[in-house]
Amino acid sequence: MVNEGAMVDLVLRNATLPDGSSGIDFAIDQKLIVDRGPNLKYLSSQEIDLERRLLIPGFVESHIHLDIALMNSWEKPGRQEPFRLMSDLNAALEKRRGTFTQSEIEQRASTALKMASRQGVTAMRAQCHVDPEVELRHLRALLNVKDQYQDLITLQIVAFPQQGLLKIPGTLDLFREAFKLGADIMGCAPNLDTGCSFREHINTAFELAMEMDVDLDVHADLSIPKHVELDDLEIVFTANRTLDNGYQGRITAGHVSALDSTLPEIATQVIHLMAEAQINVVSQPDLYRLGREDSHHVRRGLTRVKELLAAGVNVTYASNNVRDALRPMGNFDLLEEGLILAYGAHMDTEEQLNTLLDMSTYHAAKALKLKNYGLEVGCLADLVVLDAPSPAAAIISQSAKTYVFKFGNQVATTQILSDSYFEEN
Ligand SMILES: [Zn+2]
Repeated sequence: MVNEGAMVDLVLRNATLPDGSSGIDFAIDQKLIVDRGPNLKYLSSQEIDLERRLLIPGFVESHIHLDIALMNSWEKPGRQEPFRLMSDLNAALEKRRGTFTQSEIEQRASTALKMASRQGVTAMRAQCHVDPEVELRHLRALLNVKDQYQDLITLQIVAFPQQGLLKIPGTLDLFREAFKLGADIMGCAPNLDTGCSFREHINTAFELAMEMDVDLDVHADLSIPKHVELDDLEIVFTANRTLDNGYQGRITAGHVSALDSTLPEIATQVIHLMAEAQINVVSQPDLYRLGREDSHHVRRGLTRVKELLAAGVNVTYASNNVRDALRPMGNFDLLEEGLILAYGAHMDTEEQLNTLLDMSTYHAAKALKLKNYGLEVGCLADLVVLDAPSPAAAIISQSAKTYVFKFGNQVATTQILSDSYFEEN
C-alpha cells in the first residue's frame, strides 16, 4: 500500500482516458499503477505532464508470425515477383525458410520486437513454425528473444504446424517436445494439413492441447469460397468441439474469413455458436491478399467483425504477417492495422472507432488472458500515451506514440515538433 505524499517511481499528470475523462494523474511504483485520480500528491524524481494526451493500456499484438517477420529486404521491402497465385506465397516461404538459421531468426525477431515496442506494443502472441523439417530451431530462437526482451514485450509463443500435424510421421512428438521446451499455446492450421480432413486436423490439435493443458489458437476458414454451408465451416466444427471438450474461453480463431461467404441466416447461427463457445476472434485486415484472384468485384476476405461484436464475441485484430512472403507491408502498428480495418469493415462512427482501439488493447488482452491489464489501480504499468485527444482521433490521425511504458519504465518516445492539436487548443 502506497499513500499520498510517498515517493514513487513515476508520476504521470494530466492524462485523458479512453472514456473521455481528463485531468487524471497516475502514480506508478514497482511496475504497478498504485493510484490514479485528479491532483495526486505523490513525490517522484520522474514526473511527466501528458498535456491532456490520451493514455491507454499497451497495445496487444494478438497474432503475428514473428519467426518469419522482416524476412524481406529492409531497403526494398516490396514483393520481388509479381503476385500470381495464393499458393505461390506459401511455396515461396517454404523455399526461403530452408536458409534460416537460429541466429538469423533471432536477429529478425529482435528487430521486430524493438519496432513493435516503439509502436506501443507491450504484449504479443507469436506464431512459430514447428515441424520435422525445421524441428525446434524457430522455437529456440523465439524463446531466446522472449527472454532477452521480457522488459520490452511480454511474449506468448504458439507452436504453429506449418507442415500440418498428420502429414509427416513424428510431428506430434515434436510438438510434445516444443511444450517441454517452453511453447505456450497449441497452434492449428487445417488449410496446411494436406494429409487429412480439416476435422481430423482440428481434432488432433484439440487432443494435443488438452494433453498439454494449453489454450488452442486456430487459423480458421482462410479461404473465401463463393458460397458456404454451415457444416463446411472449420469454425463451426471448432466451436462444437470446444463445447464437447469443455474448452470454452480457451480458443482463439484467426481469420474466420469464410464466415462472410455464408448467407446471413446461416451466419447468425454460426455467430451464436461462437458466442456460446466463447471463442476469441482475431480479424486480419490484410485486405489485399484474399480475393486477389477475383477478376471483378474483388472480395475483401474479412470476417463479419461488426456482427460478431454485436453478438458479444470477443473480437480483436492483428498484423499477422509483417514484411514476409505473405505480406510485404506492415509496421507492427495497431493504429495502422486499425485504420485498415476501419475502412475494410466499414467502422466509421465515433463509437466504432473507439471500439477499434478497445479491440487492440482490452479485447486482445482478454484473448491472451493477460493478468493485471488495464488502467485501474493494481494493473501493470504497461502504458501508451498517444498524441491525440480521443481513441477515434488516434486512429484517424494515426497519432504518434508520445511515450511507451513497460512495467513503468519508459521504453520509447516519439516527439512531434510540428504544430499539434494541443498547442492550438
Ligand atoms: Zn497467421
